[in-house]
Amino acid sequence: MFVLLFALAVSAQNFESPENPKFDFYGRGPYRQEVPRPQEILRYSVGDFHTTYAQMEKVITEIAKSANDRVRIFEIGMTNEYRMMYLIAISAPENIARLEQIKESNARLADPRKTSPQEANSIIQNNPLIVWLAYTIHGNESASFEAMMQVVYQLAASNEPTTVEILKNVVVLIVACENPDGHERFVTWYNSVAMGNANRHALEHREPWSIYGRLNRYRFDLNRDNIAATQIETQNLQKAFFEWNPQVVVDHHGQPSQYFFPPAALPINPNLPQPVTNKWMEIFGKANASSFDAQKWDYYVRDIFDLFYPGYWDSFASLNGATGMTYETDGGGFKGLRWMRDDGSIVTLHSAIAKHFVASMTTLETAAKYRRERLQDFYDFRRTAMEEAKTEKMKRIVILPEKDRIRAAELAEILMRMKIQINLSQAPFTSKLAHSYMEKDSSATTVNFPAGVYIIDLNQPQKRLIKALLEPETPQDKEFVQEQIARFKRNQMRGKQQPKEEYGFYDITAWSLPLAFGLDAFWTEDLAPVNSIPLTEEYIRQIKRGSVSGKAQIAYVFPYDTDASAVMALRLLNEGFRVGIATRQIEADGKPWKKGTFVVRVTRNKESIHEAIRRLADELGVRVTAVNTGFFNQGDSGVGSETVLPLKAPKIAVLGDEGIDHTSFGSIWWTFDRYKINFTALSANAIRSGALKEKDILIIPDGSPGAIFNTLGRGGIETLKSWIQNGGTLITIRGASVFAGLKDVGLISAKLVGSDEDTERPKEDKEETSKPEPKESPKPTGSQKTGNSKLMGSSKSTVSQVSDEEFGVAESKTDKQDWKAPTLPPITSPSASKDRVPEGVPGAIMRATADLTTPLTYGLEDENLPVLLASGYFFRLSKEGTNAIIFEPSSKKPLTISGFVWEENTEKLLRGTAYLMSESFGKGQIIVFAEDPLFRGFFRSMTRPFLNSILLSANSF
Ligand SMILES: [Zn+2]
Repeated sequence: MFVLLFALAVSAQNFESPENPKFDFYGRGPYRQEVPRPQEILRYSVGDFHTTYAQMEKVITEIAKSANDRVRIFEIGMTNEYRMMYLIAISAPENIARLEQIKESNARLADPRKTSPQEANSIIQNNPLIVWLAYTIHGNESASFEAMMQVVYQLAASNEPTTVEILKNVVVLIVACENPDGHERFVTWYNSVAMGNANRHALEHREPWSIYGRLNRYRFDLNRDNIAATQIETQNLQKAFFEWNPQVVVDHHGQPSQYFFPPAALPINPNLPQPVTNKWMEIFGKANASSFDAQKWDYYVRDIFDLFYPGYWDSFASLNGATGMTYETDGGGFKGLRWMRDDGSIVTLHSAIAKHFVASMTTLETAAKYRRERLQDFYDFRRTAMEEAKTEKMKRIVILPEKDRIRAAELAEILMRMKIQINLSQAPFTSKLAHSYMEKDSSATTVNFPAGVYIIDLNQPQKRLIKALLEPETPQDKEFVQEQIARFKRNQMRGKQQPKEEYGFYDITAWSLPLAFGLDAFWTEDLAPVNSIPLTEEYIRQIKRGSVSGKAQIAYVFPYDTDASAVMALRLLNEGFRVGIATRQIEADGKPWKKGTFVVRVTRNKESIHEAIRRLADELGVRVTAVNTGFFNQGDSGVGSETVLPLKAPKIAVLGDEGIDHTSFGSIWWTFDRYKINFTALSANAIRSGALKEKDILIIPDGSPGAIFNTLGRGGIETLKSWIQNGGTLITIRGASVFAGLKDVGLISAKLVGSDEDTERPKEDKEETSKPEPKESPKPTGSQKTGNSKLMGSSKSTVSQVSDEEFGVAESKTDKQDWKAPTLPPITSPSASKDRVPEGVPGAIMRATADLTTPLTYGLEDENLPVLLASGYFFRLSKEGTNAIIFEPSSKKPLTISGFVWEENTEKLLRGTAYLMSESFGKGQIIVFAEDPLFRGFFRSMTRPFLNSILLSANSF
C-alpha cells in the first residue's frame, strides 16, 4: 500500500519513479579505448533522447572504423525515401577475415541435395553460427533502435570473456533498422514535442495520423510483408537473408506492457517441424528468463504471440530453418521517454532499451553455447523436409498464368526470390490426381495442363516454406480452434451490456498466394511426367514484355487480359489521349475482341499517340495490335462502332485523415504509385473547404465508420453529398462503406445484415431487438464495441484514436494484433440476435460471384472469384443499384474456400449479400466495396474491379 501511494504521489508530480538501480550499459568490459561509445557521438545519455537515422549512421560508421578487425558494414539497399539500409557483421577477427568463406560454407548447409551429412558435419565443426538480430521494423517502437547501437558497441568494443566467446562462435548480423522511413517520421516528430511527461494525455503520446511511424512510407506493416515482399525494405532484407541463411533470427519490437519473448503461443504453423521448433524456443526462452529474473524484470511468454501467419519475420525465418523469435520491450514508442502504467509506476525509454540489450546479449550467449546443435538442426531442417515431401499427399503445385500473365509472373518472381524452384511446362501433361484450389477439400480429378504453366514440386529444400505460402489452406491447432468456438458459443449467450470474450486470432487465417493473386491453381497427389525447364529470370522478363504489332493507320487495340491494360488506358487518358472501350465484342484485324477491349483511334488523337503507345506498352507489358482497316467481315461491331464508348480521364482524390486505416490508405497509394496513376490525398478539412470541386472521384479507404463520420463532420458530409449529387463518384471500402450506410449519412440504401435497418431479418428476431435498441447515431471512435475488445483496441492505428478507457487495452496491445481487426456491424444486439448477426471473421478466402455484364467487372471472364473476407460487415444486395459481385444466395458449393469461418453463422449470413455494388445518387454514384480489394498489396484477385471503379465510373455507362 505504501509503495503504491508513494508511486502515485511521485508520478502525480511528474517525477520519474525510481528505476533502481539504473541499468549500466557499460558494465560488461573491459572496453577497447579506441572504440567510441555511442554517447560520445550523440552527446546525450542512453534513453535521454531519440536518435535520428543520420546520427545512427554516424555512430555505426565510427564504431566500425575503429573496430574494423571485428566489424563490417554492408549496404543492403535503399528505402523509398532514399535512406540506405545496413547489415552490420560483427565477429572475432579470425572470422571477419574469412567472412565470405563462412557465408559460402553456411549456404551449403541450406541445400541437402548438394551437401552430404558427412560434409555438413565438417562444416558444423568449423563454421560459426549465423545470428540475425533485426531492429525497428515498426518505426515507432523506438527502444529497439537505441538498443541496437548499444549491442553494436558491446560487441565491437568489449573484451569481456563472454563477449569474446560470442564473437568466436557467432557471426552476428545486425540489421541496423528494418524500417528507416517510419523511424524517422516518428523520431523527428517525437523529439520536437518531447518533454518527458509521463501523463498519458500529454501531446507527446499522441502521434498524429500523418506521422504514424509504425509503418513504412506506403503505410505497409513490414512485419506482415514477408508473405509476398511487396515492399522495397522487405525485398532488401530478403535478399540479404537468403544470402546469409541465419540460424537464429530475432526481431526486436516494443509495444506491450511487459517484456515478451518466446515460447510463442498457439497456433503454430503446422509446417514447422516438431518437437525441434519448440525445443529451441524453450532453450532461448529459458535463457532469457534467467537473465531477466536476475535483473528482477517482469516478462511473459506464450499468451499472445503466435507463429502461424507466415508473413512475420519470426515465422518466416522459422519456415527457413532458423529459430525465429519476436522480442517485445515495454517502453519507448508512443510511451515516449516516460509513461505512467495503470498502477502508477513509470516505464522509461531507458529501461526498455536495457531490456532489449540484455535479451540480445543473452540470445547471443545462448547461440554461442549451442552452436553445433543449432547448425545441425538447421541442416536437418531441409533434409527432413525433403524426406517428408516423399510421403506427404501434396506432391506438386501447378499455377496457371492465363488469367493474368503479368500477375502470375510477379508471383513467380516473389517465390524465386525466396529460393523456391519453379519449372515451366514445355508440353501438355496430365495429372490423374489433381485438386482445384477453388474448392475446399476438393476430391481428386484428372486435369490436363497445357504448356506454359508453372510447376512447383514439393520435393525441394524449401518445401516447408512452399507449403506455408502456397497450400490452399493451413490448418490451425485443433485445440486452439475448439477454444475459439467455445468462446463464440458463450458470447452468443451474453447480454448486451456484458463484455464479450476476446478471440485468440492474431491475423488472417487464409493467404494462399495463388488464391490471393486470383490465379487458377491445382495441387496434385502425383508427379505426372512432364517435359519442363527451370523458370529463369530471363523467361519472366519475356513474359512481362509488352509489344506493338506495328504503326496503326486506324486504331490500336489491346484486350483487357492483364491488370496493366486498364492501367495503360488510365495513363493514356492522363496524358491527354482519347481512349475508348468496347462495350460489346468487336472485330478488328480479322479477329474477335472481347468486351472490355480498349480501342485507341488514331484520327482522334495527336500524332504523338504512336510514341505513347510504344512507350507505355513497353513499360507496362501490354501487347497492342495495330489495326489498319475499320472494315470487319463478321459480327456487327468494329473499332469504329458506336458500342466503343469514350473514356474520360478521372481526377482522383483519396481521403487520408484521422479515422482512416493507414494500411488501407497505403495499399491504394502503393498501387497507384507502382502504376504511376495520379491522385491527390485530401484531408477532411480540404474536403470541407471545397477541394472536391476539381475532382471526379473520391476514395474513402477502410476505417472506423464512426471516426470517419467525426472526421468529416456534418459539414463535410453535406459537402460530400452535394458533390455526389452534382456528378461525383464516391468509392468506399469496408468500414467506409458502413459509414456510407449510416442512418445519419444516408448515402446508400443497402443495409448491413443484422442491423436494425435490416428489413430482411427474420421477423421474430427483429421484434426482439427493436425494443431495447436505442436509435443509432454515429459516435466517436471506440464507441462501437465489438465484444472483441483486444482486437478492436489493437486495430486502432494510433494512440490518438484510442479513448481514455481504452488505454489499458492500448498499452497491452501487441504487434501481431495491430492489423485490420474483424469488426461486427456497429448496430447489434448480441443478446437478442443469436445467430442473426454476423460474427467478425478474422480473414478467410471466400467464393464470390461476378455479374459479368456490368462495367465494374470488365476484364473478368470467370464469374467465380476468390476474395478476402475479414469482417462482419455483410451488405444486403442493393435494391436500387447494381450488384456487380455477390455471394451466391443458394448454391450447393460452400462459399468458404480457405480459412476459419464461424459455423452456423458466417456462410449462412453471407449468402445473398454483396461484395461490390453501385448505386446512383443524384447525378453521381457510390461504389461500395464490402472488403478491402487491395489488402496488404498481395490480394490481387480484385485489382480489375478496383481499377474499373476508377476508370469506368467517371463515364456514363
Ligand atoms: Zn512491433
